[in-house]
Amino acid sequence: MAAERGFEGPADLHLHSHESDGTQSPAAVMEAVHRHGIRTSALTDHDTTSGWAEAAEAAASLGMTFLPGMELSTTTGWRSVHLLAYLFDPDAPGLRAEVRRIREARLGRAARIVRNISRDYDLTWDDVVAAHQEGATIGRPHIADALVARGLARDRTDAFDGILHPGGDYYVGHYTADSLNAVRLIVEAGGVPIFAHPAARGRMLPPDVLDELIAAGLAGFEVGHRENTAAGRRSLERLAAHHDLIVTGSSDYHGAGKPNLPGEHTTSDDMVQRIIERGTGSAPVYPSGR
Ligand code: AMP
Ligand code: FE
Ligand code: FE
Ligand code: ZN
Repeated sequence: MAAERGFEGPADLHLHSHESDGTQSPAAVMEAVHRHGIRTSALTDHDTTSGWAEAAEAAASLGMTFLPGMELSTTTGWRSVHLLAYLFDPDAPGLRAEVRRIREARLGRAARIVRNISRDYDLTWDDVVAAHQEGATIGRPHIADALVARGLARDRTDAFDGILHPGGDYYVGHYTADSLNAVRLIVEAGGVPIFAHPAARGRMLPPDVLDELIAAGLAGFEVGHRENTAAGRRSLERLAAHHDLIVTGSSDYHGAGKPNLPGEHTTSDDMVQRIIERGTGSAPVYPSGR
């Protein structure tokens, strides 16, 4: 059955391009995951859909099925919650306005971080401009790359552990969507909201908060992810089984920006099918010639 629909074979549904903090173009990301044996892919850049068209075309020409996606920056209480959204309508007004607000906030926040750093180090906004693709969702990874280019950090991890650390002198946060509201907006846009790396250290939400998100329409959990703890995965599996939720596994590939490799975690055909059946805001793209 899955083969008829064109999504047989390993699926990796969490991938970043240079439209956010990945280091490759959307087409190059699709080529990389295909080389790693992936046959169903998605592009899930942070707070943007700008890579969809290029990725979809590349995926289809490589014979892959493609799901349009995004990783939305949200917060519940003081905890950061990354929500993967699949198959939503990028023009739905509610979600569109929220994404725009987050992107604008990220830009002002990055400028403030750079201003703070420039008090002590030789770093300018031009360095950050040089370190990102025009129009990309700006984040600390681009500031990290600028620090590396200036010789002020060894690599992104070194920068995150040092100058860019949230507990440090230079850090500034930014506006994010409220997680519950974001789940509702994704559903309203016909999309499928999946909680990204929900059991990463410090991210696991209390059961009552998870229940609220599920009641609001959260469709599932990204259980297979290198940052999830083993104990967290077990409790998420139980919760997903109890509520009959979707369970995914993905790499969170960022090109050279992170060690994560395409296909290091994958999503089953059955779960891909459930996402496709549930998403009504945009369509999957099937291999050319089908
Ligand atoms: P921001 O959203 O701007 O605060 O930056 C967080 C982003 O940085 C996340 O999307 C991660 O993918 C990325 N990130 C976090 N820690 C690291 C790290 N050690 N190395 C590379 N990227 C990281
Ligand atoms: Fe990222
Ligand atoms: Fe994330
Ligand atoms: Zn991600």
